[in-house]
Amino acid sequence: MTAMRIGIGSIFQESNQFAATQTDLALFRNSYVHEGDALLQLAGTDCEVAGILALCEQEGAQPLPLLAARSVSGGVLTDACYTELKETLLARLRAALPLDGLILAMHGSMVTASQEDPEGDILDAVRRIVGPDLPIVMTLDLHAHVTPRMVKQATALVSFTHYPHDDTYSTGERGASLLLQAAKGEITPVTALAKVPIICGACNGQTAGDGPMAHLTRRARRLEQEPRILSVSCFQVHPYNDLPGMGCGAVVVTDNDPALAAHEAQRLAAEFWERRRAFEVEHLPVAEAVTRGRKVEGGPVLLVDTADCAGGGAPGDSVALLRELLALEVDEPALLMVVDPAAAHACARAGIGQTVSLQVGYSLDPAWGRPVTGTVSRLSDGAFRYDGGLFGGTWASMGLSAVLQIGSIQLLVMSQPTYDWGDEQFRSVGMDVSRARFIGVKNPMNYRHAYRDLMKAAYIVDTPGPTPAHVRNLSFKRMQRPFFPLDEEIPDLEIPVVVS
Ligand SMILES: [Zn+2]
Repeated sequence: MTAMRIGIGSIFQESNQFAATQTDLALFRNSYVHEGDALLQLAGTDCEVAGILALCEQEGAQPLPLLAARSVSGGVLTDACYTELKETLLARLRAALPLDGLILAMHGSMVTASQEDPEGDILDAVRRIVGPDLPIVMTLDLHAHVTPRMVKQATALVSFTHYPHDDTYSTGERGASLLLQAAKGEITPVTALAKVPIICGACNGQTAGDGPMAHLTRRARRLEQEPRILSVSCFQVHPYNDLPGMGCGAVVVTDNDPALAAHEAQRLAAEFWERRRAFEVEHLPVAEAVTRGRKVEGGPVLLVDTADCAGGGAPGDSVALLRELLALEVDEPALLMVVDPAAAHACARAGIGQTVSLQVGYSLDPAWGRPVTGTVSRLSDGAFRYDGGLFGGTWASMGLSAVLQIGSIQLLVMSQPTYDWGDEQFRSVGMDVSRARFIGVKNPMNYRHAYRDLMKAAYIVDTPGPTPAHVRNLSFKRMQRPFFPLDEEIPDLEIPVVVS
C-alpha cells in the first residue's frame, strides 16, 4: 500500500485593525517563513506543524511540506505580503499534486489590506486547485473569527483548546488525525458553526480554573466523549478587528450528523451568551495599582499593560506605564519594555556604561513619547528562543536591543515587537524578574503562565492602546449592533447556525 500524501501549509498571523502599523514579510521573517522542505525544521518544536509531522510519521503518511509562515500579531497584512505568501503556498500546492489530504495551520483572525477573510480566501483558492472532494482540515487559534466560507470550504475546522495556548502541538496532531481518517474514508466530517454577538478582551478567557471559557472548555471535552462527535472547538473571537459577523461561539464536527452538529454548536453558543458578563474585567489606574502593589508582601507585582500587547497586534511602543511610574517616583526595582528602534540604536551608539538622554516610546507618534535620562547597562542583538506556546522551540528576534537603567527602573528597549509567551525577552538580556518589585507585562493572559510561581499579585492597568482590556472605547463601524458589551441585553436573540 502506498503512503498517503498529505500537504502541509501554514500562514499564521492575528491582525489588529485598530493598530496604525501594517504587517509585511520582514515581520514574518522575524519569526519564520519556511518554504518547502525547510518547513521540516519545525519538527520537534511546539508548533502545530510539528504535531502534524509527528502524526504523519506515526501513521505512515508522507508529508508534502508547502509553506509555514508565522508572525507576531500586528496590523493588517500589506497586499504585497499576503499575495507573496498565498501565491507561494498555491504554487507549491500545485507542484505537490496529487494529494490524499491537505492540512492548513492558520489563526483565523488574519486580515489584509484588501481581504477581510483571508483564511476563507485561501480555502477558496485551494478548492479551485484541488477540487471539491479532497479532505482539507484547517487548524485555528481559539481567538479565530470563523466565517461561513471557512465552514463551507474546509472538511473540518479544529482549534486550540487551551488559553494560554500551550496545546498547539496537540492541535496539529488532532487535526492531522481527523484528516487521515477522512482521507481513508473512515469518517465523513460535518461541521456546524454557531455564534453570539460578544466582543470582549481576553483577560478573563483562561481555559483552566473557573472562568467562563473554562466552563465551556470542560463541556466541549465532555461532548467529545460522544461517539458521533469528532471535535468541539470554542472560540472567543479576537476583539480588535471590526468586521461584520464577529462573535464568540463554537464549531462542532460530527461524523455525518448535521443535526447533532448544529444542535450542540447552538447550545454552546447559548452558554457563551449566558456567561457573557464574566468576560468583563476590572482595571485600575496605574497609581492605584502601585498603591495596592506596595502593600503586597514578598515578591513581584505585575502591572498588566494589556492595551499595548504585541501578541494582540499592538506596536508595543507605548510608554504610558513608564510615564506614570516616573511621575509616581517609584523607587522600587521595576522592569518594563518598549519597542523603539531609534532609542535602541541611540543606546548602542552611546555604548554600555554611558549615560544618555533621549526620547523614548511612541516611535510612530513621537509627540506622546517621553524624554528620559538613563545609563545603558546592556546591549543585545535581540535573538531569543521561545520556551513554549505557539512559537515554542523557535527563535525570534527583538532586533538590536538595549537595557536602559532609569533610576530604579530597568527599561528593555527593543527594535521589533515580539510575541510574549513567558519572560524570554527579559531573561535574554539578563533582566532578573525574581528581584523586581514591579514588572510591566504587555499581554492579557500569558503572564498567568510565565509568572505563575513568582507573582504575588497582578493588576490590569488602565492605559491607552489598540489592545485594551475592554472594547467600549474602540470605534466599531462594520460590526453590526447590537453586540455585548455595547448592548447589555438583546431581546429575542437569535443564534444562527451554519452547517457545511
Ligand atoms: Zn489566541
